[in-house]
Amino acid sequence: MFRSSHHAYVSSHPQGNGRYSYSVTCSCGTGLGSYSSKSSAQSAARQHEKAGK
Ligand SMILES: [Zn+2]
Repeated sequence: MFRSSHHAYVSSHPQGNGRYSYSVTCSCGTGLGSYSSKSSAQSAARQHEKAGK
Protein backbone atom coordinates (compact mmCIF):
# COMPACT_ATOMS: atom_id res chain seq x y z
CA MET A 1 0.00 0.00 0.00
CA PHE A 2 1.33 3.35 -0.93
CA ARG A 3 -0.95 6.09 0.05
CA SER A 4 0.46 9.35 1.18
CA SER A 5 -1.07 12.74 0.88
CA HIS A 6 2.01 14.32 2.35
CA HIS A 7 4.71 15.32 -0.04
CA ALA A 8 6.81 18.17 1.25
CA TYR A 9 8.76 20.39 -1.11
CA VAL A 10 11.76 22.56 -0.44
CA SER A 11 11.95 25.79 -2.36
CA SER A 12 14.83 28.24 -2.27
CA HIS A 13 14.44 31.97 -2.08
CA PRO A 14 17.27 34.38 -2.80
CA GLN A 15 17.75 36.90 -0.03
CA GLY A 16 19.51 39.47 -2.19
CA ASN A 17 22.81 39.31 -0.34
CA GLY A 18 24.12 36.10 -1.81
CA ARG A 19 22.24 33.98 0.69
CA TYR A 20 19.22 31.79 0.29
CA SER A 21 16.44 30.82 2.56
CA TYR A 22 14.72 27.50 2.11
CA SER A 23 11.06 27.18 2.79
CA VAL A 24 9.18 23.94 3.10
CA THR A 25 5.62 23.44 1.97
CA CYS A 26 3.64 20.23 2.00
CA SER A 27 1.08 19.05 -0.51
CA CYS A 28 -1.42 18.94 2.36
CA GLY A 29 -1.15 22.71 2.52
CA THR A 30 0.94 22.94 5.65
CA GLY A 31 3.78 25.40 5.65
CA LEU A 32 6.70 24.02 7.59
CA GLY A 33 8.64 27.22 7.95
CA SER A 34 11.82 28.48 6.42
CA TYR A 35 15.37 27.42 7.08
CA SER A 36 18.79 28.85 6.48
CA SER A 37 20.23 25.60 5.19
CA LYS A 38 18.93 23.21 2.61
CA SER A 39 19.72 20.13 4.70
CA SER A 40 17.67 21.47 7.60
CA ALA A 41 14.79 22.17 5.28
CA GLN A 42 14.97 18.71 3.77
CA SER A 43 15.03 16.98 7.14
CA ALA A 44 12.00 19.00 8.23
CA ALA A 45 10.26 17.93 5.04
CA ARG A 46 11.03 14.25 5.68
CA GLN A 47 9.92 14.45 9.27
CA HIS A 48 6.60 15.88 8.23
CA GLU A 49 6.11 13.24 5.54
CA LYS A 50 6.82 10.49 8.07
CA ALA A 51 4.70 11.97 10.83
CA GLY A 52 1.91 12.88 8.47
CA LYS A 53 1.19 16.11 10.21
ZN1 LIG B 1 1.57 17.32 4.92
